[in-house]
Amino acid sequence: MVTIAVTGEREGEPRVAASPETVRKLTALGAVVKIEAGAGARSRFTDAAYEAQGATIAASASEALAGADILLKVHRPAPEEVKALKPGAIVAAILAPFDDRPGLDALAGTGAALMAMEFMPRISRAQSMDVLSSQANLAGYKAVIDAAAVFGQAIPMMMTAAGTVPAAKAFIMGVGVAGLQAIATARRLGAIVSATDVRPATKEQVASLGAKFIAVEDEEFRQAQTAAGYAKPMSEAYQKKQAELIATHIKAQDIVVTTALIPGRPPPKLISRAMVESMKPGSVIVDLAAERSGNCELTRADETVVQNGVTILGPTNLAGEVPVNASSLYAKNLLAFLETMIDKKEKTLKVDWDDEIIKGTLVAKDGKIVHPSLQPKGA
Ligand code: NAD
Repeated sequence: MVTIAVTGEREGEPRVAASPETVRKLTALGAVVKIEAGAGARSRFTDAAYEAQGATIAASASEALAGADILLKVHRPAPEEVKALKPGAIVAAILAPFDDRPGLDALAGTGAALMAMEFMPRISRAQSMDVLSSQANLAGYKAVIDAAAVFGQAIPMMMTAAGTVPAAKAFIMGVGVAGLQAIATARRLGAIVSATDVRPATKEQVASLGAKFIAVEDEEFRQAQTAAGYAKPMSEAYQKKQAELIATHIKAQDIVVTTALIPGRPPPKLISRAMVESMKPGSVIVDLAAERSGNCELTRADETVVQNGVTILGPTNLAGEVPVNASSLYAKNLLAFLETMIDKKEKTLKVDWDDEIIKGTLVAKDGKIVHPSLQPKGA
């Protein structure tokens, strides 16, 4: 029998790693799911709802953890939590493996098999396990909703007897998963939407959502996508041309949502102070790259900056601000992942350590950091 523990998250994180729906499905696989009392409360999942789907509610975190085979978390757990599990247990979470290396080493030292959900390979079989996509999609939605709330004007065009209210203009910078949802949301609200990216594949996606594509489309742009589907860092010459184009376009925008990221690098700085100062008072920028220093020069993580009447929001956990949906989707990502590790007939743990999905996410095992991207350089 496989025992799965779920404990509450730290303060400021309303998400939780299991939903009543995933508890039902894990229980049907023969697992015992132990949930710390109150762990789902901030995602509106009551203990009674979990219990009704077959979970055992543990009075404390240590009771939930004791002897479990698997621990599911949103964020990296403390070594003390992991030490309470069965030796060599599996931990699946958004581990932020590049942050706090001593902390990661200490966690690895527990001997647990640490699996970083954000390392999930982006192959079609693993799409249902892709936490970056499930959470970025909600972040893109919430960014536009938050911008609309701060923007003290109407978004859609309204023709009334007293006169016409013009439609607001929204500009989405970076058209990955978050950007696509931001475009769709801004369109639904009735904004006139434009978007930019350096990957040529996004041009058609932007058009199909009814938005206008704005980009420097030179030879470098045509080569800007890696085989893995990500953006490449652009040359200085390209960045200069891109900045000129953005400077002209951004002046007329009411809402700007930035989502531009390049894996393993600092986010590109796309909005300068001068660009912010060229915008109309009352305009809003929501910078989704805030956690990693931002796409806008003036962004401060989790703070609201007002410059010349332009508000710049730098939220770092927007998915967490729609916790019911974020937890439901995250829990489903974990369920799909666990389904590959549980033998349905024997109802036991059966991990295929050679599986691309396991190899891709496995950060540490048997006390050692094993992921290639976390080895010392030159090793
Ligand atoms: P991301 O979060 O790494 O980056 C967000 C966007 O920023 C990307 O579209 C990127 O091109 C853009 N960007 C980077 N530098 C820029 C610059 N200087 N100016 C403007 N834009 C810039 O990306 P993501 O959301 O993880 O998605 C990346 C791609 O992977 C997308 O095509 C997405 O559809 C694809 N994807 C595939 C799978 C799968 O096959 N399983 C899953 C998820 C995403």
